[in-house]
Amino acid sequence: MVTRSEPGYVWDFCGGQLAVDFTNTVGNRGAAPEEHFNTYGDIIAWAEARRVVGRAEAQRLRAGAERKPKAAREAWTLLVALRESLYEVIAAAAAGRSAPGADLARVNAEVTAACARAHLAPRRGRLVLAFDAPDGDSLSQPIDARERVRVCADDSCAWLFLDTTRNRTRRWCDMKICGNRNKVRRFRGQA
Ligand SMILES: [Zn+2]
Repeated sequence: MVTRSEPGYVWDFCGGQLAVDFTNTVGNRGAAPEEHFNTYGDIIAWAEARRVVGRAEAQRLRAGAERKPKAAREAWTLLVALRESLYEVIAAAAAGRSAPGADLARVNAEVTAACARAHLAPRRGRLVLAFDAPDGDSLSQPIDARERVRVCADDSCAWLFLDTTRNRTRRWCDMKICGNRNKVRRFRGQA
């Protein structure tokens, strides 16, 4: 449970925001989904790579999961379910639809719990919403009203990202992957 299921997989943080990147841990969402959170260890590895937790905190979580494998399995199940609800809620918002009630309720339950630990804090000249983790570590994300969430234009991908381009013209989650793949497709279609 604590080890990584795919040690060679490189996490993609093209979403531009913590919750959005969290939803992008399933490959090919729109076609044949590939799960990258197969173990609790995968989630810790993702959180460490995304700098949600520091190295010491990640080690503490791994040690805790070694001691309590059942609790780790439950946490993994909950986090994967939360991720899927989060995807549904954000994708609905991106499409201008209303979110499915059960998904919204699950996300809101987590938001309520997180708000109990939230505060505004100045960080590098901006105000950020910070959450104190139980051990005092702080997770934070800048508040930026100009950001807009979108779904990747590649149907088989369906990843989410924040479009921060001035003209709101970004179409692909990751230009290097979906952008290039579709450029090739268009080229072949025209040939
Ligand atoms: Zn994509």
